[in-house]
Amino acid sequence: MARRRQLYEGKAKILFEGPEPGTLVQYFKDDATAGNGAKKGIITGKGVLNNRISEYLMMRLHEIGVPTHFVRRLNMREQLIREVEIIPLEVVVRNVAAGSLSTRLGIPEGTRLPRSIIEYYYKNDALNDPMVSEEHITCFGWANTADLDDIVALTLRINDFLSGLLLGVGITLVDFKLEFGRLWENDEMRIILADEISPDNCRLWDSKTNEKMDKDRFRKDLGKVEEAYQEVARRLGILPEAGARDLKGPEMVQ
Ligand code: ADP
Ligand code: MG
Repeated sequence: MARRRQLYEGKAKILFEGPEPGTLVQYFKDDATAGNGAKKGIITGKGVLNNRISEYLMMRLHEIGVPTHFVRRLNMREQLIREVEIIPLEVVVRNVAAGSLSTRLGIPEGTRLPRSIIEYYYKNDALNDPMVSEEHITCFGWANTADLDDIVALTLRINDFLSGLLLGVGITLVDFKLEFGRLWENDEMRIILADEISPDNCRLWDSKTNEKMDKDRFRKDLGKVEEAYQEVARRLGILPEAGARDLKGPEMVQ
């Protein structure tokens, strides 16, 4: 493939200019970080698996009418996406208490919440992604109330759908993070789902044993990190054919 211009390198992915205007190529790395970069490591094969898992989940969401940035997978580590203007929010949905909710509020990890909770964090590494309210979001112009209505409606649909889909393969969707962006078509703006949905930004527990199958294994040094990501893909029926052997994938062509 022709040499492409790199636009951004983040903690888990690299964005390249896409083949046509309005598109980008999203390259999935094996790099893993936790605590906003305080802890760094490599999860071998993660990029390949997250590329597949995110592709699969966004395709299923597209089928129920949730608009996403996903266009098609290009190879083991890359997917073609529609370029959006990212809304600088991490939208977190929680179904079961874990992570910062448990730490901050003293709710024991594993407590099933009486209803799903949506939280917003301002996407800003320098500030450690602080939690913000709708008041902050509208006051500082990150999104307006109409945008937030769309974001909440999409988020709840995504949560309901993914909770069911994952439970069907024996996985509890404890919580997850979404990013949305603005897509302009002619003079119309639509809010669509962007970034990725993968074990990097979901808490996934085995529904029988409550064993963790996500990045918490890396964050908390629980071991069997690669295996957990593979097991999620296997249960979804999308483990790359050759299995674990194949997961290094082609190296990036610069
Ligand atoms: P970060 O370290 O900032 O989280 P990542 O490694 O996750 O970065 O790389 C993905 C970056 O690309 C994120 O900053 C994300 O907001 C952005 N992004 C995701 N999808 C799109 C899209 N469709 N258009 C533009 N930017 C996107
Ligand atoms: Mg990210």
